[in-house]
Amino acid sequence: MDDRTVNVVGAGLAGLAAAIELSRKGVKCNLISFQPSERAQSVLAEGGINAALDTMGEGDTTEEHFKDTMKGGCYLETESAVRNLTDNAPDIVKELYRLGVPFCSENGRIILRNFGGQAKKRTAYAKSSTGKMIMTALIDETRKYEAAGLVTRYQHHELVAMDVKNRQLVSISVKDRFSDDTFTFTGSTILCTGGLNGFFEGMTTGTAANTGNAAAIAFDSGVEFANLEMIQYHPTTVAICNKRMLISEAARGEGGRLYIIRNGKPWYFMEEKYPELGNLMPRDVVSREMYLVSRRDDCEGEVFLDMTGLDDNIWKNKLSDLRSEIISYLHKDPAKEPVAVSPGIHFFMGGIKVTDEHETNIRGLYAAGEAACKYHGANRLGGNSMLGALFGGKTAAASAAVSAGQCIVKKTETPVGTVSSPEIRHILRDVLLEGLGIVRNTKSMNDSLQKINTLCDKTEKNSIDSKRIKFAAAMLNSALARTQSLGAHFLMNDG
Ligand SMILES: Cc1cc2nc3c(=O)[nH]c(=O)nc-3n(C[C@H](O)[C@H](O)[C@H](O)COP(=O)(O)OP(=O)(O)OC[C@H]3O[C@@H](n4cnc5c(N)ncnc54)[C@H](O)[C@@H]3O)c2cc1C
Repeated sequence: MDDRTVNVVGAGLAGLAAAIELSRKGVKCNLISFQPSERAQSVLAEGGINAALDTMGEGDTTEEHFKDTMKGGCYLETESAVRNLTDNAPDIVKELYRLGVPFCSENGRIILRNFGGQAKKRTAYAKSSTGKMIMTALIDETRKYEAAGLVTRYQHHELVAMDVKNRQLVSISVKDRFSDDTFTFTGSTILCTGGLNGFFEGMTTGTAANTGNAAAIAFDSGVEFANLEMIQYHPTTVAICNKRMLISEAARGEGGRLYIIRNGKPWYFMEEKYPELGNLMPRDVVSREMYLVSRRDDCEGEVFLDMTGLDDNIWKNKLSDLRSEIISYLHKDPAKEPVAVSPGIHFFMGGIKVTDEHETNIRGLYAAGEAACKYHGANRLGGNSMLGALFGGKTAAASAAVSAGQCIVKKTETPVGTVSSPEIRHILRDVLLEGLGIVRNTKSMNDSLQKINTLCDKTEKNSIDSKRIKFAAAMLNSALARTQSLGAHFLMNDG
């Protein structure tokens, strides 16, 4: 074993994939995370992971996976990166199966389900708890390397600062959330800190524990970001206690249908408007259609997801967790009555800009998973995110291993404040929601930006609040810079 070490910040799918890959290469890893892996947002993933395994006899190929991904993302993705992703997908899923992920299967053959934006069955799943099952397998695999001294965990540790000089990462600072002890770590670092959910507290299907502070700190340190305006609204979510509960796309993949009451009768608008993919059109299209039909004069009430036609076998073998979640939280049995749904913020296609090798513009700094912007263009296809996180983590690790040197960890006496003000957080959220909705217009984006700029005077320079404000402004500036509609960025200017 040598002394080469890489710091991995974030221990969800991307972070664990990076830690495992580094270990397999004999490189040590400091695995630093705000929360333990068991609580990372990745455990929430339900519906599945895409790979052209072609076990359903449909003649699916990696080329078709590539084409669907490019088309779903409106060709904003880098072609070469998506090709790497889709070519590697079958091996990634087979490796997960080998590690013990209980993908639904028959005689050792993984069964695949339909997901949005793809004409062939391509999504491997473990009932409706795919993320939890994959995370469990990867946590186990990582423990093996912890025991071998290759992975050192720093759980409940938060990234609080980055020192960048001349476009070179010098160190990161990390604070123990309970003792407040702060340490600096030198050496190459991979940021796997997940999406920007904390900017949309209460309005997202994800966890607000992904505060977005890491992104704000990185942006303030000169790390380049891309496509921040590309925010995915998932069509089928429901408001529950301070969160949006997701009704996985798997429900529509298995036959769930969207309708609204028009002239007194159910109107299956997606099926009528998009006969080919119907309810399984990409998420940006479905969310937009829901937004538009619910504003029509001849339509009344909410949009419903009708899963009453699904047979018992599907509920039992494929969607049992989803059904019990709906019963527990909404006190309705989806097998017996339709559920009112509306779009909610779900995923961030934009993030830290990385090369195909997952390098950032700062030497020694890499990024992967939902924190990074690479594979999903203007709209992510369901099932591609876990894949992107796993492949991205692995790729970033391979790149970081090459540049890895020794890591020096030092306790520092300099206190760093990282608790953001709830008042500012809530103002930012409300203003961002006004500007960056499903349908946007230049005036509301400009108004939002102005409101955000006035907040700057209310915060201390260099505080986490001021960094969050700058980052929120960057999201709006990114949206304003894109003057044509594309994917999740849909403009409908007045007049
Ligand atoms: C409800 C739900 C269902 C989904 N279903 C699917 C699906 O079926 N298929 C699919 O492909 N995708 C799905 N997704 C998306 C997918 O789960 C995520 O995009 C993916 O798991 C992200 O993995 P990640 O490793 O990048 O981030 P995460 O799993 O979010 O991990 C982020 C890590 O960073 C840490 N962290 C954050 N900030 C800091 C900080 N400042 N300092 C230190 N550590 C920090 C966190 O503690 C965590 O360990 C779903 C998402 C949600 C919310």
